[in-house]
Amino acid sequence: VKAKGMPTSSKVTTCAYCGVGCSFKAEMQGEEVVRMVPYKDGKANRGHSCVKGRFATEYAKHEDRVLEPMIRETYNDPWKVVSWDEAMAFAAGKIKDIQEKYGRGAVGGISSSRCTNEEIYVVQKMVRAGFGNNNIDTCARVCHSPTGYGLATTFGTSAGTQDFDSIEDTDVILVIGANPTDAHPVFASRMKKRIREGAKVIVIDPRQIDLVKTPHVMADVHLPIRPGTNVAVLTALAHVIVTEGLVNETFVKERCDADEFADWSEFVSQPGRSPEAVEIVTGVPADLIRRAARLYARGGNSAIYYGLGVTEHSQGSTSVIAIANLAMATGNIGRKGVGVNPLRGQNNVQGSCDMGSFPHEMPGYRHISQDAVRKIYEDLWNVKIDKEPGLRIPNMFDAAVEGSFKGLYVQGEDILQSDPDTKHVSAGLGALELLIVQDLFLNETANYANVFLPGSTFLEKDGTFTNAERRINRVRKVMEPKNGYADWEVTQLLARAIGMDMNYGHPSEIMAEIAATTPSFAGVTYDLLDKEGSVQWPCNEEHPVGSPVMHIGEFMRGKGKFVRTEYVATDEKVGPRFPLLLTTGRILSQYNVGAQTRRTHNTAWHPEDLLEMHPHDAEQRGIRDGDFVKLQSRVGETSLKVLITEKMAVGVVHTTFHHPTTQINVITTDFSDWATNCPEYKVTAVQVSPSNGP
Ligand code: SF4
Repeated sequence: VKAKGMPTSSKVTTCAYCGVGCSFKAEMQGEEVVRMVPYKDGKANRGHSCVKGRFATEYAKHEDRVLEPMIRETYNDPWKVVSWDEAMAFAAGKIKDIQEKYGRGAVGGISSSRCTNEEIYVVQKMVRAGFGNNNIDTCARVCHSPTGYGLATTFGTSAGTQDFDSIEDTDVILVIGANPTDAHPVFASRMKKRIREGAKVIVIDPRQIDLVKTPHVMADVHLPIRPGTNVAVLTALAHVIVTEGLVNETFVKERCDADEFADWSEFVSQPGRSPEAVEIVTGVPADLIRRAARLYARGGNSAIYYGLGVTEHSQGSTSVIAIANLAMATGNIGRKGVGVNPLRGQNNVQGSCDMGSFPHEMPGYRHISQDAVRKIYEDLWNVKIDKEPGLRIPNMFDAAVEGSFKGLYVQGEDILQSDPDTKHVSAGLGALELLIVQDLFLNETANYANVFLPGSTFLEKDGTFTNAERRINRVRKVMEPKNGYADWEVTQLLARAIGMDMNYGHPSEIMAEIAATTPSFAGVTYDLLDKEGSVQWPCNEEHPVGSPVMHIGEFMRGKGKFVRTEYVATDEKVGPRFPLLLTTGRILSQYNVGAQTRRTHNTAWHPEDLLEMHPHDAEQRGIRDGDFVKLQSRVGETSLKVLITEKMAVGVVHTTFHHPTTQINVITTDFSDWATNCPEYKVTAVQVSPSNGP
């Protein structure tokens, strides 16, 4: 965005796209934001940015924004623009009617990982204290919920172990199921710099992502894994480490539970878990797995970075556990340069998990069944909190279809586009008596809404986002909300309308409540954030300016826990009708379902989703580059253009999910992670055939 003249003022704030959490100076001319300048003192980005962050102001000003509340009796009726009071009274009346008729568990809420910590906190508070149940979930359900389960089980808390600076001390970078150059570009640049300085790279991915081979970067080992076999490969790596004597015995003895290690060690040593035994299943030559294991275990400081290619599987949680096992077995945890680092997708998905947006956890990852934890909030909020976990997002859709779940409040998430098996999601949304959508735009989900509450952009509010390295960054209001209210105020209006006493005057007051009730945030104040720029939780009496590296000396749970990781093949199988495997992901210039990036200049770089396909698979089907094709799975079909590329493995196709014209989730299945219900987006059996057009 070209500035028209010298800025008259500027404020430092945080990008609202990905989990890198880059700091920007928003430069203003009067009331108008004219330029986003990467902030040189931003601890996550050190003055760098990607093409998304620089253009982020454009969607805030886009003509598609809805700025007034709207209601309608059913989703078939036309919208009626109303006052905020009328919208809140309408929504609150429906919530009351539903709960009287069907019980207090018939309503729930979904918080947004695009919103601030403070905004997420008030949503879970409204659901728990106002709706009177734990039917609160977050879009982390469909991305990193297995990270929550896996890392909490093994290490004791659900977060990346390192700061981004740690990469400077890393000798071996193992990237699995992530494509940082597209999805986390600014951190990917730091990775590439380190690689150019000599760090070794192991990539485990079905695609030949940029880190495998670009003009300046070449992976030392690429394991071109068959989608869905992460656990088999990770366990085979462990097999090599144990059977070739590469375990860091000192670390394991001092830091981990001995019995669990012995049990795990015996489990992974079995011949059936060797690289040779899993070669056919994984599609990876055994010698490559052996090379990767030796390099990871012996190469010095080794760090694992992973993404949704690990979590979005029927064994997502098992894969995260398998990764944690590797780090513990080799002693690659608890100091600079090593660790286990989930690359979080959304700007505040870490925060949405931290803030108690799961149906089984209060803020700070404390289980809802803990009496002492509930009591803290019961005393403060003057309510009784249910000790039973509430419904997860997919359970909400199931219950809606069955008729026991009737009302849903969705803050800033286009679930119709983003969640798997669109047909089932539509059926669930269509069966609701009340759907409240709070968003910037009339998204696809809003087609089923009968209350629309205008949302605000990151430029229009104060608060904090927490990035992938647990860094709590300030978000600063640079312009007044065009819709009249920041998102936390909108939730507060609704909470008041249903009779809750919620009267925050500023997000700093919400943060004060978070700090007073959440041990890992106990030391966080806006004053501290202004002084330090940002801090990483845990931030408390023990760590007054935060914790760049976790699990130093001791794991959060005490002793590290090794867990067996039995590979179980997904139920989604290829066969004669659906012989190819589809995986999905992002591209640099676009972001998730594209609600924001499609309303910026970024659209020029990627105006449509493309199906990437190996030349062999294309030739077999008589498909040429640029042809329209029909993409079919067992649950649905869509059409899009083909991009023929040798970066794809034979038998595997890939596309992005940025455009509603493709609606790729029409074809993804409802298979999900056994522990968390995270959808199995990364494995769908499909057929591709020529088509005349959309
Ligand atoms: Fe940084 Fe991510 Fe924003 Fe790009 S999208 S500027 S990498 S936070």
